[in-house]
Amino acid sequence: MKKLFALACTVALVLSASTTATAQGRRAFTHADTLRGSIGPARAWWDVGFYDLHVRVNPTDSSISGMNRITYRVLDPATEMQLDLQQPMVLDSVVPEGRRPLMMRRDGNAYFVTFPAAIARGLTGTVTAYFHGKPRAAQRAPWDGGFVWARDSLGNRWIATANQGLGASVWWPNKDTQADEPDSQRVAITVPDSIVDVSNGRLRSVTSNGDGTTTWEWFVTNPINNYDVAVNAARYAHLGGVYYGEKGPLTLDLYPLAYHADTARVQFEQVRPMLACFEHWFGPYPWYEDGYKLVETPHLGMEHQSAVAYGNHYQNGYLGRDLSGTGLGLKWDFIIVHESAHEWFGNSLTSKDLADMWVHESFANYSEALYTECQQGKEAGASYVIGTRRLVRNEEPIVAPFGVNAEGSGDMYYKGGNMLHTIRQLVNDDEKWRSILRGLQSTYRHQVVTGKQVEDYISQHAGMDLRKVFAQYLTTTKIPVLESRVNGTTLSYRWADVVPGFDMPVRVTVGGESRLLRPTESWQTATVPSGASLAVDRNFYVLTRSVR
Ligand SMILES: [Zn+2]
Repeated sequence: MKKLFALACTVALVLSASTTATAQGRRAFTHADTLRGSIGPARAWWDVGFYDLHVRVNPTDSSISGMNRITYRVLDPATEMQLDLQQPMVLDSVVPEGRRPLMMRRDGNAYFVTFPAAIARGLTGTVTAYFHGKPRAAQRAPWDGGFVWARDSLGNRWIATANQGLGASVWWPNKDTQADEPDSQRVAITVPDSIVDVSNGRLRSVTSNGDGTTTWEWFVTNPINNYDVAVNAARYAHLGGVYYGEKGPLTLDLYPLAYHADTARVQFEQVRPMLACFEHWFGPYPWYEDGYKLVETPHLGMEHQSAVAYGNHYQNGYLGRDLSGTGLGLKWDFIIVHESAHEWFGNSLTSKDLADMWVHESFANYSEALYTECQQGKEAGASYVIGTRRLVRNEEPIVAPFGVNAEGSGDMYYKGGNMLHTIRQLVNDDEKWRSILRGLQSTYRHQVVTGKQVEDYISQHAGMDLRKVFAQYLTTTKIPVLESRVNGTTLSYRWADVVPGFDMPVRVTVGGESRLLRPTESWQTATVPSGASLAVDRNFYVLTRSVR
């Protein structure tokens, strides 16, 4: 999922996606966008090692307070550090270990703290950031971000966070960029005794504070996107289990609202076949140490690492709808499948810049097709992803401007998924294609990557130069058009509406015979039966035009 403008982790509603993407295209970027979206000098010199986050959640007045103890490694000694915390939250102080609070100035949602002296390269330092305030309340999570202060149908508190795109700094201070993840993180959340908090990783301790509150200490032993760190607090039931996967036993911990336990027990049976399918195609689930969890939330869903947020109301499809229009999407629960796919593409392998978010969403959309294939066969999987083409808008490019925390258009889902499906046709070898997907995962496991690294990896291992293919689908709003005409026994064909040098092969049926054409922007000819008609293999996401 992702944020308001396009969709985020979860696919947003189609209409809102297009309008917001268009609005975004005209968006003028600000100084604040640059501070947030680029690795400026006050960010570049230090590398996050550990976030030790402690937050007290006070639902009675919708406020929170807490501290984040940040351990960092010095890459290049400097004295000014940027920390992000969005208004109206307040950063009270930033204190180095055993020292007095540092001098600090605020520039919008960025704080710059000054150290009296630089720490030497290679050493580690620790600062504790104290904060409080009433974080922005999300109006339509998960597409906008912030806290969700809800109640379940019995009137019990039901609290959640969602902040993809907007950023984790909407509620806690951190280095708010996808480019730098801590190696591990504690998430200790204090909530009223009446509810349970389920955050990321494994539960280490539960402490009753004797003041009507309990602290739930969770620990993630792997790198984590800061936008994946989440509060989920409610009256939950706990359904436990074990899945025996590629790396051995994987714990499954499912947290439906208590009164949904029986319904959840049935719906969540989809978790095992989902894991089996994705481990087959992508390799081992990336977080055996932290376990797999599903947590019921008052918003639709989000790929919160090792604690996937689930709000699809225990029905198949996307809130009961099939995005592909084929009926195939009603055979499985969209949120379980899509958000869990992000554990591989999005969480284990994370884009450095939000501009490359297709690395998350194109693969997650494509994962829906792979799941359909696992369940119902290859043709069904193809029909599913092809069916989602109806949602492509082609109004804005998929890749957004870099360095300003901008997201590209919602086409990163369906058009991106169809781009990958098209590339699979070019590879034309399913085992090779699977080895590419698994290779991406093993090569970039637990890392941040650029879109270009992903493109280059696929090109290299497919043994073909796909740069023009990626450029076409990711950076333009044009779908390639195969122009053709048949004159007697001569077929003439070429690409139109393409980036310069575009020469993607395409499979066609002409005169009842399947053949692979290698069109370029120049006319080429082939001999065909007299009067033959030409049809493109539907698996290639291209258009056709007959010309005279
Ligand atoms: Zn998603």
